[in-house]
Formats: sequence, structure tokens, C-alpha cells
Amino acid sequence: MTAKASAAANLRPATQLLHAGAPALRDGTGPVNVPVVRTSTVRFENTATHAEYHHRRTAGERVAAYGRHGLDTHRALEDAVAGLEGGHRAFLTPSGLSAITLVLLALLSPGDHALVADGVYAPVRRVDSTLLKRLGVEIEYFSPTHDDLASRIRPNTRLLYLESPSSLLYEVLDLPALAAVARDRGLTVATDNTWSGGWFYQPLALGANISIQAATKYISGHSDLMQGVVVVDSPALAEKISAAYEALGLTIGADDAYLALRGLRTLPVRLAQHQRNATAVAEFLQQQPHVSRVFYPALPTDPGHALWKRDFSGASGLVSFEFRHATPAAANAFVDALTLFGIGASWGGYESLALVAQPERLREHRQWTGDAAVVRLHIGLEDPHDLTADLAQAFSSAM
Ligand SMILES: *Cc1c(COP(=O)(O)O)cnc(C)c1O
Repeated sequence: MTAKASAAANLRPATQLLHAGAPALRDGTGPVNVPVVRTSTVRFENTATHAEYHHRRTAGERVAAYGRHGLDTHRALEDAVAGLEGGHRAFLTPSGLSAITLVLLALLSPGDHALVADGVYAPVRRVDSTLLKRLGVEIEYFSPTHDDLASRIRPNTRLLYLESPSSLLYEVLDLPALAAVARDRGLTVATDNTWSGGWFYQPLALGANISIQAATKYISGHSDLMQGVVVVDSPALAEKISAAYEALGLTIGADDAYLALRGLRTLPVRLAQHQRNATAVAEFLQQQPHVSRVFYPALPTDPGHALWKRDFSGASGLVSFEFRHATPAAANAFVDALTLFGIGASWGGYESLALVAQPERLREHRQWTGDAAVVRLHIGLEDPHDLTADLAQAFSSAM
């Protein structure tokens, strides 16, 4: 390690993130950013070098013998994300959902059973119903806050799959307690960490073995990219994930790796502002007569607030709220009346979004006890006064 590199290891996370993956100078000079290395073919000086690279790769070394393995841009992003999550190794996938599917396929075999939190990102259930069932893998949904985990673990249970806070209602889970039970019984613990961007939450330090993110969201930060990452805590898990990753032929383009790395540089400042704006909006919503409940863990009234305060260092831009009486038609009218919020799925970009969450979907989630419509907002980086003014005019014109 050079003197400069060992000094860098002592720096605070935001500083490390700014410089992670920066290219070394050559002949005393060089660019700030890692170049975009696009290639399909990797060339070798001679057949002996070609053979040597294949051997090193087979032995588990992270070197590229073919374009699919990714070169400098991929390496820089992998290292930056592994550092952010405090993990051993990162894998880059074409979307957040493919990162989740990769983990499930890598760790589950016919006859295996897995316990999955009932508040997970909804398309996980589609992976289960279309792919895992056909492969003879049994997925059981449970409520991590209402049910006893230990009594649900069977001899063939291999995996505990969580998401905290949960999708749509942001139910905060007691990860250290759940992970302790699961690991004691030999289960691998994987969790979706998209909500925090890897910045406000460190699941590997709290007992998870695998952290998954849709880099599509906060890592990218600019709504211009689809990408997923899987970060593992050990060489043994890296080997398992790597085997499935290679078999599935997963890879991402170098341009997308570059964009994600560019997004990572500003992750801490963007998230700090998302939190400030979302807190202002959540507090505004709490005052509204048409709103019966606001879902945002940073609010002291949120049921997950104490756990959030213990385990998280901040909150994202996602805020959901339940109408006091509104039917789905009235909720749709409210969303249609907004002028500053885009209507659409996904989130994590700089811009604000609104979406009506169907109560039928929420019923799968034991956190859900209501029957009125719920709207999910992603609070972007606009001036929060403009956002609350837009929400106020939508309440008065649509309600
Ligand atoms: C969006 C999302 C995903 C899936 O990411 P894509 O890149 O859209 O496939 C996974 N988990 C959570 C929590 C998400 O919000």
C-alpha cells in the first residue's frame, strides 16, 4: 500500500466515496474519472498469457478474460459499492430485480424452503410464482414484526430474505434480532437495501450476509439507468453468487457502470437533501384533514421510528400516506391534480413522483390494516415549498 492509499483508508465514508475507483496516474498525469472501457473481446499478448488469465479466473481471481467479465469501469464501480456496503465483493446486474433473482437462484435448490418478509418489493412474488415454484423451491411469506421467525424455520430452510424498510409502507425491521435467529440455524440472510442507497444503512454490519440494491434508484440518482448490485460478506458466498452470475451470463454495459459511479459521488449530498425535503412534506401531510396516516420512519409517530433511530443514519425521499376516506377514484383525482409530481413507478431520481398504491396489494403486508387509498410519493430535490404548495392545491381541488 502506498502512503497515499493508507491515508485514504482512514478517511470518512463520504470522502472515500468521492475518490473510490479513481484511476492511477500514468507518467505523472491522468484524468479524474475512470475511463469508460467498452469491449467485447479482451486481447492477450500471447497464448501463454491468455491461458494464465483463464487459470487465475477459474481460481476465483477477479480478472477479465472476456468482455462479459468487465474491465476497468466495472472494477471501479464494484469496488466503490463493496466499500460503501462494507462487503467482500460486489456483483453488477442489469436491473434491481435481476440482482434479487440472482441471489435466489444462486442460493436455493429443488426441495429448499426460504422465508421471505411479507413487505418485500412486489415483483419478488412473481419470481417466486413463475420461476422458483417450477424449480421446486418453496417460498413462505411471513411478517417479521408479527410472526415468530424461529418457529417457522424448517430443516430445509436455507434463506431469510428481508427488506427494511419495506416497500410502500416502510416498515422497519429489527435486522440484528432476525439475523441472529436465522444465522444461529444456519440460514443465509439477504436484505434489499435500495431504500437507503447503502448510505443510511449498513445491513452487513447488522448481521445480514448479502445486501441487494436497485442501483436504478439512489445510486444512479438521475433516472437515466437500470442496474442492480449484490454485495456479499464472504469469499464463500462470493463463490456461490459468482457461479450463478456466470451461468446466467449476467453483465452490464461500461457506460452504465460509469453513470452509476458518477451517481455514487453525490449520493451523500443528494440523500441529505431528499431527507430534508421528505421530512418537510411528511410534516405537512400530518397536518392535512384528508390524511389519516403518514408512513415515514423519521417521524416520531411512525411505529418504526425507534428501530430506525437505532439502526439508520437517515431517511430517504419516500413518503406514503393514507387518505382518511378517499376511494381509489378520489386518490386518482388527487394524483392527477398534482403538477410538480410525475406519475410513475420507480424512484430515487432528482425529481418528485406520485403513485396510487392499490390496497389489494398492501393486504399481503401485515403492516397494512386500513382500507382507504394510499399514495406513495417520492420527494425529489425541488424546493420543498413548491412541493407542499402543489400538494395543498391538489387536496383543495380534488377532495
Ligand atoms: C425498484 C426496486 C427494485 C427493482 O429494481 P429495478 O432496477 O427496477 O429492477 C428492487 N427493490 C426495491 C425495493 C425497489 O424499489
